[in-house]
Amino acid sequence: MLDRRSSRESLSIGRVRGHVWRQLSVGVCVVAILSTVGWAMVRFFLEPAASREGAAAPRPVIDLESYPESGTPMPETAFLPSFLVLDTPPDSPPDPPTSGDILAAARVEQASTSLQPPSLEMLVRLAKGDSVAKVLHRLGVATGDVGNTVATLAEHVRLKSLPIGQAITLRIRPAADAGAKALLLALTIRPEPRREITLEREEDGDYSVEEEVFEVTSKLQRASGEVEGSVIASAEAAGVPRAPLAEMLRAFSWDVNFQHDIKTGDRFDVMIERSWTSDGHEVDAGRVLWAELTTGGGAESFRLYRFKPEAGEEFFYNRAGESVVKALLRTPLNMSRISSRFGLRRHPVLKFTRLHAGVDFAAPPGTPILAAGAGRVVEAGPNGGYGKWVKISHDGGLATGYAHMSRIAPGVRRSVRVRQGQVIGFVGSTGLSTGPHLHFELHRHGRPVNPLTMARTAERTRLAGRDLARFKERVAELDFLRDTMTVVEDPVAENR
Ligand SMILES: [Zn+2]
Repeated sequence: MLDRRSSRESLSIGRVRGHVWRQLSVGVCVVAILSTVGWAMVRFFLEPAASREGAAAPRPVIDLESYPESGTPMPETAFLPSFLVLDTPPDSPPDPPTSGDILAAARVEQASTSLQPPSLEMLVRLAKGDSVAKVLHRLGVATGDVGNTVATLAEHVRLKSLPIGQAITLRIRPAADAGAKALLLALTIRPEPRREITLEREEDGDYSVEEEVFEVTSKLQRASGEVEGSVIASAEAAGVPRAPLAEMLRAFSWDVNFQHDIKTGDRFDVMIERSWTSDGHEVDAGRVLWAELTTGGGAESFRLYRFKPEAGEEFFYNRAGESVVKALLRTPLNMSRISSRFGLRRHPVLKFTRLHAGVDFAAPPGTPILAAGAGRVVEAGPNGGYGKWVKISHDGGLATGYAHMSRIAPGVRRSVRVRQGQVIGFVGSTGLSTGPHLHFELHRHGRPVNPLTMARTAERTRLAGRDLARFKERVAELDFLRDTMTVVEDPVAENR
């Protein structure tokens, strides 16, 4: 029997943070927002080229799907890994029912006297434009009671920022006759996974409030496996949640071209931290602490450690303490295939041998071309056999050139500054070209060099001083956690 779960193992690292829930709740919101934004970014740059022309966002390059040889008609969905074709964002609540739907109701109390109807317990979810007050009004609760309830509740819950789909449990005593009003006996709401607020009507008609704070524990999850098909599909199958998966792909994309470099037998291994409440609710979307990916069928291996330098963003570093982010992108296109490398070759149009001073990336016409690094545009316009061409000058005596564009992006002209990853134009076949592709050049002190070799060794920022010392401690800690987790490497073989 194949049991996928056995390839993952959870380990409590026993960090109890119940007493600081207030500060953490802010953190959780930020994490949730960041992970949503991160995921939106991944989705964004995997969308078909036509739908995002002109858009600009700094980001590394991720090649996630292969596509047929250029010239073969390509279905639009060829660009979209199956999991990206989604109707709902990954972390959204279930479809909210229409306004005021009562999802569950139960008779919880028999009438104590024949004059009083029994009370009802019900679960309501907020619909779009809904509020706690509106729900209570719909249920026929007296206006004064609604006001009291909302005022009391507002001291504990930010009522205006409750999401669509927010669950509210209510206990109501319906009106005894047509002229009377329903009575709210109790209301329970969980505005965050860690907090539950219960409001109850006292004998005297006032409402009392009780807040339960659930203990939150960070748990480590590790997932590993062989890459079959794509890194995304394999990591998902091994149980890597989406937010950490997107994070991992972004970080590896500075070193790995997912389309060219992954071969049969390559493996991934990832350790994720995720927080849970004591009653089993997920508090966050999870984050990658450490990850490893091999390329070339195990020929090379890349490792990431999550770390936050004292002055700087939290991101990933290799074991040597170098940021995974590089000055130049390895591939200035999100979806591409190398169709011709740097070096001597017979020119396909001119039919004689000469130096191919760049790298050709075959890509469908209209594919956005990204600035490989931040810099200043020094040339933008027609350039003979290069067709529509853009040249950017970067720090350190480097310059990049982009040829055969179908068009140059609006605003990209001489002396304008561009950001790394900014869309500067679109793939075409202008000039001396046999089909749609990007001819990409890298110049160092005015001479063309091989962009693929150069990008591999491009300089990275390295941690130093106190940051490096702290980083080394963190590496030892993460290595220890990873090595002390039990991971069943191959659940299939295990059960054979
Ligand atoms: Zn070329």
